[in-house]
Amino acid sequence: MAKTPITVAHGDGIGPEIMAACLHIMSQAGAEFEIDEVKVGEEVYLSGNTSGIDPAFWDSIRQTKVFYKAPLTTPQGGGFKSINVTTRKTLSLYANVRPARSLHPFVDTKHPEMDLVIIRENEEDLYAGIEHRQTDEVYQCLKLLSRPGSERIIRYAFEYAKANGRQKVTAFTKDNIMKLTDGLFHRVFDEVAAEYPDIENEHWIVDIGAAKMADTPERFDVIVLPNLYGDVLSDVAAQIAGSVGMAGSANVGEHAAMFEAIHGSAPRRAGQNMANPTGLLLGGIMMLVHIGQPEVAEHVHNAWLKTIEDGVHTYDIYRDGVSQEKVGTKEFAEAVVARLGQQPETLAPVSYAKGAGIPTATPAVYREPAKRELQGVDVFLYWNGEGRDPETLGTSLSQANTDQLSLNAITNRGLKVWPDGAPETFCTDHWRCRFMAPEGGQAITQQHILELLQSVHSKNFEIIKTEHLYTFDGELGFSLPQGQ
Ligand code: NAD
Repeated sequence: MAKTPITVAHGDGIGPEIMAACLHIMSQAGAEFEIDEVKVGEEVYLSGNTSGIDPAFWDSIRQTKVFYKAPLTTPQGGGFKSINVTTRKTLSLYANVRPARSLHPFVDTKHPEMDLVIIRENEEDLYAGIEHRQTDEVYQCLKLLSRPGSERIIRYAFEYAKANGRQKVTAFTKDNIMKLTDGLFHRVFDEVAAEYPDIENEHWIVDIGAAKMADTPERFDVIVLPNLYGDVLSDVAAQIAGSVGMAGSANVGEHAAMFEAIHGSAPRRAGQNMANPTGLLLGGIMMLVHIGQPEVAEHVHNAWLKTIEDGVHTYDIYRDGVSQEKVGTKEFAEAVVARLGQQPETLAPVSYAKGAGIPTATPAVYREPAKRELQGVDVFLYWNGEGRDPETLGTSLSQANTDQLSLNAITNRGLKVWPDGAPETFCTDHWRCRFMAPEGGQAITQQHILELLQSVHSKNFEIIKTEHLYTFDGELGFSLPQGQ
């Protein structure tokens, strides 16, 4: 077999120990790697490079397109960015694949039948990191979902299900509240699902879906989620399957893929030959499938299952009465190596048919732009005047109306407070003031909005932000105020 070039980072804390263990197991199983070792993480930060990433890293990963990464320590405070997030976003590793399978009765879990895979969108949603403090009292974080981004993660989930013989794909959103953003994800889910008639599909509102997943995870198969829900629920899934310390993940994009454990660098356990290498090993198994060495992946996976089944356990999963032997990282690796070629007897063995496992990413689909028509503008104000009375604000702000745009509603934290607000509503210093074109009036232009803003400013109001209100092929591209 030809050697596959891979980029490897040995990481921080327990990273070097578990990486050595995993590379040892995989090479003993016949993996053919040509390793390019790179430096990222604490050592690079401490040498004065605040990105924590050696410049040679990007050259390496562009060449190998495969990154096997041990956990890294993100120094607290000081404005350090997470290297994981930087790598995922820079290389557009949009699909995060996180299997969570129970190892009952060998590892404690309340869910012996659980075997699901979470496919988490990795780049969008509230993780765009666009946050502002807008007034004394109010802070915002923008939730951005795109159609191409939603479409490709959802398609990835169905392709994953197809390649792995899985029967059902479930999406969770909160589209009863976020009708535009989560509504887009749900709509695209329905569209893409229709292209896969052989795979069952279902959608749950995220709160009840999450509750069901925590209660009866065995009724789920593949779950596709926007970034934040995926981040939270994939840890829940890993934990209820057995332990967060035992889950691996793949981050797949069109240009590269990264494989890792989902846990961190566990600094308190570093250098003691104690850590469980399982999470990183399961990441490595996904990597072997991805780079076309599925026989090796199968070998390693089954030997690892047999090791768990034989009760050879590291401290984190060791239980009196169930475990047979408490071992360190190195001894655990040797136990797996000793079982290469064996199959588990109680746990179901795995089989990776060629091409199954980790589908390659598909490019984003670009569509013809819709016809956009400007309908009005939301002008956000900082206003702390006269008892914060919406009537007072509405009356005086109406004087800023222009011929083309007039004040239509004022909301506070989304709820309509003018006209006809309720006296009980608590108001902050942050007001969203919606100006609309009169019904049937002439089309609005950017120039009209600039004139309105000038008029609002001339009445001594403090504008902190604006959002333009469009229709797209006649469909509203904005939500209506709550209470309207
Ligand atoms: P952690 O995952 O490192 O540790 C949480 C707990 O789990 C600890 O008690 C630890 O001892 C235990 N644990 C974790 N992995 C284990 C293993 N393989 N075997 C046995 N026990 C294990 O989380 P943390 O303490 O919050 O974070 C430590 C550092 O790791 C931080 O700097 C954080 O930023 C970083 N981190 C990195 C990644 C990553 O690189 N993907 C992910 C999460 C956290």
